[in-house]
Amino acid sequence: MNTKYIFITGGVVSGLGKGITASALGRLLKNRGYKVINQKFDPYINVDPGTMNPKEHGEVFVTDDGAETDLDLGHYERFTDVNLTTSCSVSSGKIYQSVINKERKGDYLGKTVQVIPHVTNEIKENIYSFEGQADIVITELGGTIGDIEGLAFVEAIRQVGLEKKPEDVLYIHVTLLPYISGSCELKSKPTQHSVKELQSFGIKPDILVCRSEIDIPVEIREKLALFCNVRPENVIPNLTAENLYAVPLMLEKQGLAKAVCKQLHLENKEPQNEEWEKMIQNIRNLRGEVSIALVGKYMQLQDAYLSVVESLRHGGFANGVKVNIGFINSEKINEENVKETLKGYDGILVPGGFGNRGIDGKITTIKYARENNIPFLGICLGMQMAVVEFARNVLGLKDASSAEFSSTTKNPVIHIMETQKSVTEKGGTMRLGAYPCIIKKETLAYKIYGEENISERHRHRFEYNNEYRERLEKAGLICSGTSPDGTLVEIVENEKHPFFIAGQFHPEFKSRPNKPHPLFVGLIKAAKTNKNI
Ligand code: GLN
Repeated sequence: MNTKYIFITGGVVSGLGKGITASALGRLLKNRGYKVINQKFDPYINVDPGTMNPKEHGEVFVTDDGAETDLDLGHYERFTDVNLTTSCSVSSGKIYQSVINKERKGDYLGKTVQVIPHVTNEIKENIYSFEGQADIVITELGGTIGDIEGLAFVEAIRQVGLEKKPEDVLYIHVTLLPYISGSCELKSKPTQHSVKELQSFGIKPDILVCRSEIDIPVEIREKLALFCNVRPENVIPNLTAENLYAVPLMLEKQGLAKAVCKQLHLENKEPQNEEWEKMIQNIRNLRGEVSIALVGKYMQLQDAYLSVVESLRHGGFANGVKVNIGFINSEKINEENVKETLKGYDGILVPGGFGNRGIDGKITTIKYARENNIPFLGICLGMQMAVVEFARNVLGLKDASSAEFSSTTKNPVIHIMETQKSVTEKGGTMRLGAYPCIIKKETLAYKIYGEENISERHRHRFEYNNEYRERLEKAGLICSGTSPDGTLVEIVENEKHPFFIAGQFHPEFKSRPNKPHPLFVGLIKAAKTNKNI
């Protein structure tokens, strides 16, 4: 079968959940037995979002193969359970970098290098890189149609429509139908304008996915079809769902996957949606709740911790409880207010981060969790701070710190990785992607994972300093997971505490709603026990 290409563009406003539409469609097609790969195009000039502040762009999602990518890849992976790769996240910066490198090498043989065809060819190479590897490639274009930065991508996807057979390419435009409450009306005009703009670039949408607060009446559907040049059955309402994971089933009901299969001449196989339906039933039937304090510093934008938040929810699904998350700014926590701030929480999570702002509050939080037997999960920087806290307050090394924050400390219990010492450029140079880890038997980690060999994704420059290993272990902070050669400490846990565990990696990138990550399942279970439910 020829690889089929679906392009998803957005119109009217940003933030319409294009990423969720792309993810949900991926799941529906996967459930029909097709091999699906999701891809994201981001028009910004950064080569990848790795150097961006999470406050601006939300979390940086890391793939198995070590790409630092847009957070939409997290949605794709959670919905489709397909592990994506570097080629699935492409920015203008990445495209231009490659074109300019080729130009410097002389690859263009004396030609004037131009947006059309050189940049658009480069973009198409990224699209076609999945030829033969997937039945269907779903490519989402970031931003809204008409953005200056996105024009080269729009032109490239238009060309794909001409290069491939008509039945192998499909364009979906996601728009908004504003609801005017005074007159109880849905308005189609912004969508009409947006489609007009899309058509001015030579792209005729096959399907409109319309975000709407209420179901779309037949007359509006027909009007949209007529004015936007699509079939009435291809106007798909995308209503606000009770929860994110219910979107695929809602779009199934609205006929999205059926319309896609018809247009792409794909057999509309009976979808295997039962597992997903069962999961949604389970989410609807959650009884009881636990509260988890998420103590970090990028609190202005909750998307900065998107995968952590979703993983906590997954942990709740596995335990049959709703998880309430308190977003707590570590900069505001100190010895005086820590008890008051954290008293209502059944568990505490300190996530990853960079730079020393808010560090003291994290250490104070971890001390509070350790001393009061509150279930604790530390992630990356959270793990490093758990080691610092233990060294300071249990070993009595008062100036213990991470070399990231103090170059003068006599006790760098966290220090720079050997391989990082020669690194001078910031972009894409951390220890990134999946690495194996061996878990020691008879530890909490082993109880949680139930296996000795695991693989987790990383994104860091600093690591546990083995010079302190013996002392820390003797005092009760056990290294329960290490790299296969035993040199890199990947998991620490406190043997005197009912649930105190922290990993140098990011478990949140591997959690799925239907396959919750064991560390989050464990944390929520411990939080339930702590709350006596
Ligand atoms: N800043 C720390 C390091 O580079 C932790 C990174 C993280 O939390 N992802 O090692």
